[in-house]
Amino acid sequence: MDLTTLDRLPMWIGGKAVAAQTKRYGEVTNPATGEVIRHVPLGSAADVDAAVAAAATALPAWRALPPLRRARILMRFRDLLQAQRKEFAKIITQEHGKTLGDAEGEVTRGIEVVEFATGIAHLLKGEFSENVGTGVDSFSLRQPVGVCAGITPFNFPAMVPMWMYPVAIACGNTFVLKPSERDPTLAIRMGEVFAEAGLPDGVFNVVHGDKDAVDALLAHPVVQAISFVGSTPIARYIYETGARNGKRVQSLGGAKNHAVVLPDADMDFTTEALIGAGYGSAGERCMAISVVVAVGEAGDPLVEKLAQRARSVNVGAGDSPDVEMGPLVTAAARDRVAGYIDRGIEEGARLVVDGRKPTVRGHEGGFFVGPTLFDHVTPEMAIYRDEIFGPVLSVVRADSLADAIALINANPYANGTAIFTRSGHAARRFQQDVEVGMIGINVPIPVPMAFFSFGGWRASLFGDLNVHGMDGVRFYTRGKTVTSRWPDDGSAAPGFHMPMMG
Ligand code: NAD
Repeated sequence: MDLTTLDRLPMWIGGKAVAAQTKRYGEVTNPATGEVIRHVPLGSAADVDAAVAAAATALPAWRALPPLRRARILMRFRDLLQAQRKEFAKIITQEHGKTLGDAEGEVTRGIEVVEFATGIAHLLKGEFSENVGTGVDSFSLRQPVGVCAGITPFNFPAMVPMWMYPVAIACGNTFVLKPSERDPTLAIRMGEVFAEAGLPDGVFNVVHGDKDAVDALLAHPVVQAISFVGSTPIARYIYETGARNGKRVQSLGGAKNHAVVLPDADMDFTTEALIGAGYGSAGERCMAISVVVAVGEAGDPLVEKLAQRARSVNVGAGDSPDVEMGPLVTAAARDRVAGYIDRGIEEGARLVVDGRKPTVRGHEGGFFVGPTLFDHVTPEMAIYRDEIFGPVLSVVRADSLADAIALINANPYANGTAIFTRSGHAARRFQQDVEVGMIGINVPIPVPMAFFSFGGWRASLFGDLNVHGMDGVRFYTRGKTVTSRWPDDGSAAPGFHMPMMG
């Protein structure tokens, strides 16, 4: 079905598109034009109930299917995704605003998680010990947790949900996705592609909505595990509420990622890397660099080069050729970012490049803010403290690597960070002493590959386990350990005392 022609999106429940029960609808806009392009149902508790019921019905047969056969369905899913990734990128660009190339990139990163999940038969292998006691063997295995739910942000409508459901489903769980209401269409396309790949009805479901739908998932007694990615205040709320309701929760929050630049860094390479990491996807990435910590003499030449390159970034609609940076997702996001730029000036930072009110011909209604660069930002300023989630780079000056590391370690967020240097010694000290979940060494956006796990520290992740990689497999399974004996006639029976097998 060409979902982009619909005015009202359906839910995806039990293997098919179904009309929502809710009467509440939200608007989905094209950020490059400002036009309302379709409406998304804001699901009620009854909608959530229907999705969870479908997932619960599908669970027994799905979890009983051998992992290899589950993997074969994921292999077909992967091939279909790969073949249609350009079509998916168009949907993402239309609703999110990012460039087509960037959108295709996120689909590819999502596909990599599916590829990881196709190895599930190997990943679920347990351990076996013979003769833990005389005639007694012991083995451990991992079993699916049951019905799992994922609640995801607007900024990666393909990749972030795919951090979750391929692994959950491969492990033998069934899944209910509550995607962002800002760019909800791709989730329904994923349901269609899964159906084409042969996934049994009800294994993957989509319920659209806002806080009401999320709260219904958090309270639902059948839902066993919640994965969340979004802003820190909501991540904390999800973690606390889910845990109170007896669910396992992994809840990824916001970020304020610093890049440290030492004076010995290759300044041209570093400038190009920081421009992409700061302004790519209009700064709406949880791994975007938003603070540049320029150490010692790195400051002046770096700011000059960054300013020059920031002024040349090609801003426009994400589907126009050669555009490097698209609009922000909503008018509210644009106004919030512009408000932070005003505040940075008021608080005394030096505005080097001003991205307020860029002209994008033919897209006057779009939600654009151009690349913005501040220098001499200090830790007390709001533009340093808060996650702006827009194309605003703040340069903080530091005297030494030790000061830079102390600054990063004092920040409440701890998602990703990077260092630019030619010194292996400095890089090693940084990787060892910095208290952040994901580290880049001359790599500005160190997003781990699917077979490693993704997650930050402190206010960037609530819960013990990261997403995808082996942490994902652990999150979506429960451990079980079996101790077995096959006594012969006449073997001594266990007595009253605590069994001592050795
Ligand atoms: P958001 O927190 O506003 O929304 C995320 C999800 O929570 C959405 O599905 C939304 O419908 C739901 N939600 C919103 N308000 C809610 C409420 N009051 N109660 C219950 N549910 C609610 O985030 P966003 O604006 O969509 O995404 C941007 C944020 O996500 C940024 O803070 C960014 O750093 C973060 N993010 C983090 C990571 C990571 O890996 N740590 C990855 C991507 C995005």
